[in-house]
Amino acid sequence: MPPTTPEDLLNSVVAKYGTYVNPGLARLLSFAGYGVEMKAEGCYIWDHEGRKFLDCLGGYGVFSLGHRHPKVVEAAKQALDTMPLGSKVFFSKSLADLAERLAKLAPGDLNYSFFCNSGTEAVEGALKVAKAFEGRPKVIATYGGYHGKTIGALSATGREKYREPFYPLVPEFEHVEFNDLSAAKAAIDDRTAAFIVETVQGEGGIILADDDYLKGLRSLCDQTGALLIVDEVQTGFGRTGRMFGIDRSGIVPDIITFAKALSGGVIPIGAFMGTPRVWENAFGKNPLIHTSTFGGNPLACATALAALDVIESENLVENSRARGEQMKSGLQNVAQAHTDLIAAVRGEGLMIGVEFTMDDVAELCIAQMVKRGVVAAYTLNNRRVIRFEPPLTINAAQVDTAVTVFAEAIAETASLLSAVIGAEN
Ligand SMILES: *Cc1c(COP(=O)(O)O)cnc(C)c1O
Repeated sequence: MPPTTPEDLLNSVVAKYGTYVNPGLARLLSFAGYGVEMKAEGCYIWDHEGRKFLDCLGGYGVFSLGHRHPKVVEAAKQALDTMPLGSKVFFSKSLADLAERLAKLAPGDLNYSFFCNSGTEAVEGALKVAKAFEGRPKVIATYGGYHGKTIGALSATGREKYREPFYPLVPEFEHVEFNDLSAAKAAIDDRTAAFIVETVQGEGGIILADDDYLKGLRSLCDQTGALLIVDEVQTGFGRTGRMFGIDRSGIVPDIITFAKALSGGVIPIGAFMGTPRVWENAFGKNPLIHTSTFGGNPLACATALAALDVIESENLVENSRARGEQMKSGLQNVAQAHTDLIAAVRGEGLMIGVEFTMDDVAELCIAQMVKRGVVAAYTLNNRRVIRFEPPLTINAAQVDTAVTVFAEAIAETASLLSAVIGAEN
């Protein structure tokens, strides 16, 4: 029988997750208080009870343009009506246009693009191209870094919890402390194919790379002939208040990866870009050395082009910076009233993290935020940090709402905790 009431609907979906999808995930989402998502528009998501939620997670950075931006949806519809998936043997205009567009946006001589379908695939491709460059075996990555969960990307991801069950991973991957240039210097040598790093460790807990660190990595790589891969899967396209995370330091990597926001929040796409000398070494002898059946399909490329148009025409990079400052200072004010629970508020643009002083506070606070109609989540590699990554289209009033709800949620969490601690004593 099809479910009749909202409660029946929720119970039946949760039961199917328990039986057919992932029982642990069913418990995790239920604990946070999430129901079933039914539709979304702009900065809002509606659940099975018709409740409206302000999206302050933004799909981990996917929904930079909000949900279902009409111009992106229109581009997708046009592609559906003409040719959504390509033959792979004809030339594709939308793929060529998107590659040209990205080359004009990206810094330096990052001119070439390869298109895939997700962030982890972008990292896989980047690692392969780097290894092909001079045939060197070693890759250096950072603790706390997040690069995806397929075997190659996971070999670079810096959290034991995700890695340990899958040992041995790809050989000759080494991890060093993030933001520690002398550790990088000690690790990079003439057997190093690449150093891979984020400009802001998103899943690591919204930790910014120092400008001097990124500049130092650039010169260490130049000295040793290693390639510098910057993973902008989450930071790319305005998230940090600049078009790209690397724009703050002004360095140009040899390879850069994108995904999340490039989708326009409508059709999945990933990409990695490289310089002519990187591409010549990787694809020069064999243009089919790395391929993807679905990667670069016209549907995804057309929507990505529309998304880039919207980012420019609606000044979303500027909005990210302005609303980001508003949100960060609002959250900092809240933090001042809860110095026992909140250790730090940090970030740039609309990529802001609130770090708690103890474990489990983030989880409790998230549940209180969800109860009050704000979607939030902690960072995957650091559960003490709640991330605020709303759509870059968010307005000042919506930012105020998010901050107010966070203030209420942390106050409620504090009183719940003191009740528990009081009862224990
Ligand atoms: C999300 C993310 C990935 C992985 O992307 P998926 O699409 O989930 O595979 C890789 N790198 C960074 C920096 C990310 O934030």
